[in-house]
Amino acid sequence: EIKIQMRGIAKVFETDELETHALKNIDLTIYAGDYVSISGPSGCGKSTLLSILGLLDMPSGGEYTIEGVNVTELSLDQAAEIRNAKIGFIFQSFNLIDELSVFDNVALPLRYSSEKMSEQAITERVNECLQAVDMTHRTGHKPNQLSGGQQQRIAIARALVAKPAILLVDEPTGNLDSKSGDQVMDTLEQLNKNGTTICMVTHDPRYANMADIQLKLLDGSILTTPVPGASIKEAV
Ligand code: ADP
Ligand code: ADP
Repeated sequence: EIKIQMRGIAKVFETDELETHALKNIDLTIYAGDYVSISGPSGCGKSTLLSILGLLDMPSGGEYTIEGVNVTELSLDQAAEIRNAKIGFIFQSFNLIDELSVFDNVALPLRYSSEKMSEQAITERVNECLQAVDMTHRTGHKPNQLSGGQQQRIAIARALVAKPAILLVDEPTGNLDSKSGDQVMDTLEQLNKNGTTICMVTHDPRYANMADIQLKLLDGSILTTPVPGASIKEAV
């Protein structure tokens, strides 16, 4: 099953007389269960690609489908709706809400979903996700009572709660010490083993190497295009 398909995606930024070709002719296919990393030097287009993948920005050209739905030319409202339904985001800064408990942070996407769920169904789903990140013992805590690594695992649970088609992960360990960073990477690896589709952007080669499909961006183009689903660990 194809989760994500991009064909010939381009992004041009125009500022004053300057044109920046941030992405050039990107072809990308992500299958259910894939763990993809996208790495490359500063300015190569990683953030731009992640923004387009996450429907935070629209491409200048090319075609993009998520679970078979063409999302190339959506209005902002339509993009927001598909984003909420199909994309789970994990950021470098955890973006949790300090005033809410761990439980309520994770429940938030369900409470704002267009499909109304019963409180009991919400409780079951939230606990399922907290279990998946090994954080069931902290449901009543506030985010600032947790370590950075624990906060990131809560953010992962929140990203999973609405059963997205794909997790988009942006520098997940950027704000963490190496021990907590390793724990967060272990959590992502475990989720992927259990079937979660992941696309992670990182400049850290050590973490990029943990993915099964490792793409390198350089100057807006993908350098290696491996056979979908195949591991290219040997080629790095
Ligand atoms: P990375 O995330 O790999 O560091 P970016 O995607 O942020 O790279 O940037 C890719 C290129 O696009 C860079 O040359 C950057 O300066 C340019 N760029 C990114 N966003 C904008 C923008 N909003 N306006 C103009 N240029 C931009
Ligand atoms: P982990 O390795 O699971 O991320 P740590 O080893 O960093 O956790 O933290 C150990 C314990 O200290 C945890 O139970 C955590 O809840 C607690 N803790 C860490 N940081 C803080 C903090 N800023 N305020 C309160 N408790 C904290």
